[in-house]
Amino acid sequence: MRQGWIVLAALSCAACATSPLGRSQLNLVSDEQMAQVGAQAFRQIEQKTPVTRDARLNRFVTCVADAVTTAIPGNTTPWEVKVFDSPEINAFALPGGHIGVYTGLLKVATTQDELAAVIGHEVSHVLAHHSAERYSQALAANLGAGLVGAVTGVDPNLVGDASTLLLLHFSREQESEADLLGLDLMARAGFDPQGAIALWQKMSRLGGARPPAILSDHPSDASRIQQLQARVPQDIPVYQQARAAGRRPQCSG
Ligand SMILES: [Zn+2]
Repeated sequence: MRQGWIVLAALSCAACATSPLGRSQLNLVSDEQMAQVGAQAFRQIEQKTPVTRDARLNRFVTCVADAVTTAIPGNTTPWEVKVFDSPEINAFALPGGHIGVYTGLLKVATTQDELAAVIGHEVSHVLAHHSAERYSQALAANLGAGLVGAVTGVDPNLVGDASTLLLLHFSREQESEADLLGLDLMARAGFDPQGAIALWQKMSRLGGARPPAILSDHPSDASRIQQLQARVPQDIPVYQQARAAGRRPQCSG
């Protein structure tokens, strides 16, 4: 066991990266490998969950998601957007450019600004390499000393399967980063960042005995809302500049 930890310590230096907010991250998997895993995971979800035939909901989600992803600086990824017919109050984004929104979420995120807050948050997990980080940690935990080869690049055979990606949960630090980066991104897209506060306040009222799925990963406690409230004044000018530059999404739900 001890040897395993030494190997991991060596790996974490060889494979270190830094998150957009300056946190050190373990990253054993290339963007290309993560894109492959993300595409597989998305197909697995599509096989299990029907997409909605509601044209109005499809238009609403696509309109918001397109506006958010267009505002990603230097984006070259075409983002695929699907609305899944499920009462689950949840949404996700996967590496390689895939966004999934469940119809249950749209009963809570009813305005374009509220939905942009969720999509901005989920996309920010991908952009900040949180998915790659969690996936790398799972690989390291599962494969231990077998990952010695990763020092000089991960053997594609060791990359693992997509279902691993779907089981991962983000840490509180990652949630906090995605909140802040998501707020910046939605403001840059021309959505009112105060929509994020409204959304998470609604979510926190839904807690209680049967909290929605999204809250198991996204506890909507007072400290989280306070952190967002503290950031909003910084993002209001970003939002106003985006509006002035013509980014004025009009997506109706
Ligand atoms: Zn999250």
